Amino acid sequence: MSRGVLMVFSGPSGCGKGTVLKEFFASGGDAFLSVSATTRAPRPGEEDGVHYYFLSREDFEQRLSQDEILEHACYCGNYYGTPRGPVYERLERGENVILEIEVQGGLQIREKCPEAVLVFVLPPSFDELRRRLLGRQTEDMETVSRRLETARQEMQAAYDYDYIVVNDRLEDAVDELKAIFAAEKIKTANRKTMIDEVLRYDA
Ligand code: ADP
Ligand code: 5GP
Repeated sequence: MSRGVLMVFSGPSGCGKGTVLKEFFASGGDAFLSVSATTRAPRPGEEDGVHYYFLSREDFEQRLSQDEILEHACYCGNYYGTPRGPVYERLERGENVILEIEVQGGLQIREKCPEAVLVFVLPPSFDELRRRLLGRQTEDMETVSRRLETARQEMQAAYDYDYIVVNDRLEDAVDELKAIFAAEKIKTANRKTMIDEVLRYDA
């Protein structure tokens, strides 16, 4: 059995990553969404172990030193990181894995896992990004301003990603995401065993 596709899914805060993924799963998309660890406080409605593992700074640093975190970054004053174990377990089982992480982490994954596919979600415009971030009403004004400043730098990293999904119409963005999985699945690297099989039974 071939390994699953490891996908990094990045984009500035408010561009709609969570919304695109929710619609992807609701419309039959099949993948394991990695649950990250973070030191930021939970937002209303967020559950420990479901949306994130909410850790103290000490706990996060201890897991880092024990090499339990595959990649990590400090984003707007908080640590965020990907627990290593579940990612490899799922990939070995042939499942696709999505890491919804920011760009510093995405580029660490490219170094450590060269087979990973890096997808960047682009908002249709900076104005629309601002509107979405403000419209979500989950952060105070200071946090929104910090996230918008960070967004400009993050979007520079988009040039280094493999695919750009534009989240203007939600349905189109979800179709683009599905198309990437479909294309990755039929890459030569993922079909080597099929070539071997066909060659073995030359009658
Ligand atoms: P992220 O996960 O990237 O931080 P969210 O998924 O929370 O972003 O989306 C931010 C806001 O933008 C939410 O209020 C969401 O409803 C809205 N949004 C997401 N995608 C679209 C879209 N295609 N068109 C209009 N609004 C959108
Ligand atoms: P939020 O606080 O809005 O949930 O996330 C802030 C940013 O952190 C988002 O860009 C999100 O993709 C990123 N993020 C979430 N989990 C991880 C992670 O495990 N590693 C890294 N590097 N970034 C993460």
